Amino acid sequence: MRNQWILVTGGSRGIGRATVLRLAKQWNVIFTWCKDSDAAHDVERECESLPGMVEGYQCDGSDEQAVTRLAADLLARYGSPFGVVHNAGITLDALHIHQSPANWRQVMDTNLNAIFYWNHLLLEPMMMQGGGSVVLMSSVTGVKGNSGQSAYGASKAAMIGLARTLSIELGRFGVRVNCLLPGYIDTDIMHTIPKEKRADLRKTIPMKRFGKVTEVAAAAAWLLSDESTYMTGQTLILDGGLSA
Ligand code: NDP
Repeated sequence: MRNQWILVTGGSRGIGRATVLRLAKQWNVIFTWCKDSDAAHDVERECESLPGMVEGYQCDGSDEQAVTRLAADLLARYGSPFGVVHNAGITLDALHIHQSPANWRQVMDTNLNAIFYWNHLLLEPMMMQGGGSVVLMSSVTGVKGNSGQSAYGASKAAMIGLARTLSIELGRFGVRVNCLLPGYIDTDIMHTIPKEKRADLRKTIPMKRFGKVTEVAAAAAWLLSDESTYMTGQTLILDGGLSA
């Protein structure tokens, strides 16, 4: 059990939830959520029997002031985190010419700007403590276009550029920054797609199945662990061969 904490944004559902459950075997975990308090409380309950302390906080990552308040509070109470998993994300799909400016901004604020708000407070203490690991939950859509996902894809591609630059700026402080790029993962989002369309999508994947949230969580845990200590500025693609 490590006596430090890790922040997982959007840890109440899907990939984030699986990541919290996985990390709590070894770390104290703070996670955030936005709207669904029931899901967040379920995660806290599920983690009660695990070694790590797990606490969920409502915090809309697109709200700079809310992030600043919570980050300052967490730093005051628990000191610097060892790691951050920037996982919270939304899609709001629409063809580019039909996308409303409000939706475009909401995707950028949630998926990208939130990372800046959190980093602004958390990275310096991590640099001062002399080590740590940051994982950005990007997407294969950041490197391979997907119709209807221009805002989402742009935000996810920007995360890759951000991770590369941060790895250069933070490397000498021992803080590593990497991106995970999941392909189609079996979460709530996938179940909003009609069954026939899901079957068609599955056929396009060389491994002929969607990924599991636990497979993404395992990769995130690896990037935070002592097993990946020379890896920084990289993108790790988990897509069953979709982008091969
Ligand atoms: P889910 O929709 O299942 O869960 C999203 C999580 O993010 C929830 O905990 C949600 O909380 C939280 N969240 C949403 N908006 C905000 C916000 N403004 N502030 C704080 N938290 C917020 O997502 P997935 O598990 O499917 O995806 C997780 C990440 O993985 C995303 O970044 C996504 O882009 C990426 N990804 C997912 C893939 C997939 O196939 N599922 C593929 C590639 C990448 P609440 O419910 O309370 O709103």
